[in-house]
Amino acid sequence: MIEQPQMVKICNIKDETPNVKTFFFEFTGHYDPGQFIMVWIPLNDEKPFTLSYINGNIAGITVLRRGDFTKTLHAKKIGDQIGIRGPYGKGYGLSEKSVTTCIVGGGIGMASIACLADRQENATFIQGARTVTELLFRHRFKEMKLCTDDGSLGYKGTTVDLLRELIGKHNYQKIYACGPEKMLHKIFELCSEHHIDCEVSVERYIKCGFGICGQCDCSGQRICIDGPVFNKEDLRNMPDFGKTAITKSGSRVSL
Ligand SMILES: Cc1cc2nc3c(=O)[nH]c(=O)nc-3n(C[C@H](O)[C@H](O)[C@H](O)COP(=O)(O)OP(=O)(O)OC[C@H]3O[C@@H](n4cnc5c(N)ncnc54)[C@H](O)[C@@H]3O)c2cc1C
Repeated sequence: MIEQPQMVKICNIKDETPNVKTFFFEFTGHYDPGQFIMVWIPLNDEKPFTLSYINGNIAGITVLRRGDFTKTLHAKKIGDQIGIRGPYGKGYGLSEKSVTTCIVGGGIGMASIACLADRQENATFIQGARTVTELLFRHRFKEMKLCTDDGSLGYKGTTVDLLRELIGKHNYQKIYACGPEKMLHKIFELCSEHHIDCEVSVERYIKCGFGICGQCDCSGQRICIDGPVFNKEDLRNMPDFGKTAITKSGSRVSL
């Protein structure tokens, strides 16, 4: 694990969608799918991102352009440098091949779940987005079941709607998910109702990344070191999951 930011050169950039780019750089540490790294842009900020690609000693982060930090990152070119430290946190637990699994990614949550899908063979893989142009990694995962809210491609509806239908037909024993918390909470309820194991990656505002500042607290669990991936039993004891979060300035708000 790298404890201090290490400057790495961006060696490739891939346009994934109009608002999402993947940045590739050299990375040699051990990484479990679902863990995250802190990315530093000097004189700007430091923010958490999961690795979405690992190929030998090249890793990638897939970044949705949102506010100041991600806009600055999107303006970077091949050869520019960024700082990275980590990886941090607890990733997804891989399942035995004999366990019937389903992986669900919503929006940019696909970035977190992609490296898991690379390793978890034979899983059903569902991706949901608002519209066809926001779908990610369609050439990378050819068998993915796609859903769009507006019906522009694949199943018209949410990942939760499709998952509910598939649970009726397949005997899933384990479900993994990353995406908007509303989606994760519904998947958690669905899994509880059907007695299916689940692991979901929970997002909170992260500052230090290693458990000191308490910023990313969710019912006493620090997302940065106790998570970001939690199982059904953990989530049952986290009443703030799906309900409240702490903002950048420290106030608790409902989601
Ligand atoms: C464990 C983890 C993994 C993540 N992985 C990815 C990823 O692979 N790809 C990706 O595009 N995004 C990822 N994110 C979210 C990413 O960190 C934010 O989108 C980014 O920090 C936004 O910064 P901004 O200045 O561009 O936008 P802002 O305008 O500052 O914020 C936009 C949104 O991002 C959230 N955000 C801002 N700063 C942070 C922070 N320090 N920690 C957590 N959330 C923040 C805000 O609450 C808001 O909802 C991840 C977040 C977490 C917690």
